Amino acid sequence: MTTRYNLPPRFPKPAPIKEPGPLPKRSLLSRENLLLLLFIVAVALMPVLPTPELWITQLNYIGLASLVALGLVLLTGVGNLTSFGQAAFVGLGAYSTAYLSTRYGLSPWIGLLVGLLITAICAYLIGLLTMRMSGFYLPVATIAWGLSLYHLFGIQEFLGKNDGIGDIPSLNFFGATLNSGREIYYLIWLAVILAIFAIRNLLNSRPGRAIRALRGGGVMAEAMGVNTGWMKVVIFVFAAILASISGFLYAHLQHMVNPTPFDLTYSIKYLFMAVIGGIGQVWGAVIGAGVLTALEEGLKRILPELLGSQGNYEIIVFGLMLVLLLQYARFGIWSFIRKWFPPPPTALAPAHADELPKREKPAAGELVLDVRAVRKQFGGLVAVNDVSFQVNAGEIIGLIGPNGAGKSTTFNLITGVLDASAGEVLYRGERISNLPSRAIVRRGVGRTFQHVQLLPRMTVLENVALGAHLRGDFAPQGGVLASILRLNRAEEEKLLFEASQQLERVGLGEYRYLEAGNLALGQQRILEIARALCCDPALLLLDEPAAGLRYQEKQALAALLNKLKGEGMSILLVEHDMDFVMNLTDRLVVMEFGTKIAEGVPHEVQQNPAVLEAYLGGVE
Ligand code: ADP
Ligand code: MG
Repeated sequence: MTTRYNLPPRFPKPAPIKEPGPLPKRSLLSRENLLLLLFIVAVALMPVLPTPELWITQLNYIGLASLVALGLVLLTGVGNLTSFGQAAFVGLGAYSTAYLSTRYGLSPWIGLLVGLLITAICAYLIGLLTMRMSGFYLPVATIAWGLSLYHLFGIQEFLGKNDGIGDIPSLNFFGATLNSGREIYYLIWLAVILAIFAIRNLLNSRPGRAIRALRGGGVMAEAMGVNTGWMKVVIFVFAAILASISGFLYAHLQHMVNPTPFDLTYSIKYLFMAVIGGIGQVWGAVIGAGVLTALEEGLKRILPELLGSQGNYEIIVFGLMLVLLLQYARFGIWSFIRKWFPPPPTALAPAHADELPKREKPAAGELVLDVRAVRKQFGGLVAVNDVSFQVNAGEIIGLIGPNGAGKSTTFNLITGVLDASAGEVLYRGERISNLPSRAIVRRGVGRTFQHVQLLPRMTVLENVALGAHLRGDFAPQGGVLASILRLNRAEEEKLLFEASQQLERVGLGEYRYLEAGNLALGQQRILEIARALCCDPALLLLDEPAAGLRYQEKQALAALLNKLKGEGMSILLVEHDMDFVMNLTDRLVVMEFGTKIAEGVPHEVQQNPAVLEAYLGGVE
């Protein structure tokens, strides 16, 4: 007899279990908040002290650039989307107020509103057209957008062609006229500080966790109910709005605008700033804007003297800087500083909160999942070959078979990650095949992944809270503005409490404030179960949940699954460990080469000649 497949299959060696860190305290005076306070005080004191005029001018430009770079923190740093069009949005903000205030004598504040509206609409349309596509479409679209807007500014008669628009009035802010740089300074930095708060608030919220989940590629986020395409549009519009505000302030600082500062080169500079400072970090954006603006000013003076000729040599230095930085400090300047300002875990679970609403569950024995002859072909390969089986409420069904049998593909067909080539899947009587994953999880199908998919730098608690994305107070894809304004406190309490309860339920409670990436692999799998439970599922699909677990942990997992079953949960489970499935499951479905070869109660299936053949090979 030859062995075609390893039985039992080899497991990856369990990693040592990490000790949970001490529980964090809620402290307003964390070092990071102290830094923010110092920053605000320093910013406030600058114009009061005998600061040279030149410094104030520089600080104004740093503030304006920070606003644009802050938008990129969210868009590029967190959302992983690159835009070469930010300077064009700055231009929209600047030209809107310049035109309306000079041509029609309208208040600049009306110019601001109109500019924001035009910016939001443009960003929304560009976003809508490009965000659902993958990869390079956004960068290319933003380059095209940036170039065309730049040329539009330059050729339009009513926008003053290349000379631009002059005599833009000063801003009037609560009765004070902001004529000089020293006077508009506070408004610029107020905008920067508000933007920092807005981003911090947004990132630590339900939509913020969804935005942070975009990095994972989207499959996991969609499986948690996140409309990833929409979330990308949201951060694109957000970044554009910050750029537009920067343009508005710029116009009233300079009292004139022309197309030059809205060129593609400037868009690239904003990206430089975000990267050099530390992409994805609010402080990185401010530091990057500061360093680059100051350096540019300095180099513009020194380099022509050193080299004895005029030219934009600073660009070459920036390029070199970027190459060196990417080589030696990929996470920017802030990554060196941040170790002194460790941010405390921002999302803390309350001891009590209102329970989230729960869905109505199927009655015992109700047919929950009906897989009808589903088929999946990848080119010539039939990965799933007309497979049918059913899962009733309160049953644990095992889906087993050798590696490559098509088990994970079957999971992906049920959960909408893949579209079926033929056949259909019904969930509680409703056809769900070929719906997007987020529509399927909304109906109550929770899942875990064979290859763990979590956000390693996010705490265990926040990772699990992502599972409750659809159960917030606001519409699933909404709540962004409410989060920015911190009107989401009640929602956060409920979601984090739920996440914390689910962590207790699966036995990971004490790890809730650890970064998820620090958990052992087996524990990460359990984390995924807690996350799936957070969506209040009636059907749970677990892809190899016991892989990498130790013996005791497997027993604890089996006990947990039995408890869930007792509560009426239906579970479909892929597993290699025969002992584990034999004692746990009501029925087994066996697949080989995409085809279902057997189905029945475990001890019957174990004796089935076709199954023995598949696992052990034929007698020769
Ligand atoms: P299992 O989970 O049972 O180990 P899978 O469902 O992952 O098996 O894979 C079944 C078969 O389909 C394998 O031969 C695999 O290589 C193939 N397959 C899975 N996903 C894809 C894909 N996206 N493209 C092409 N082939 C795939
Ligand atoms: Mg698999």
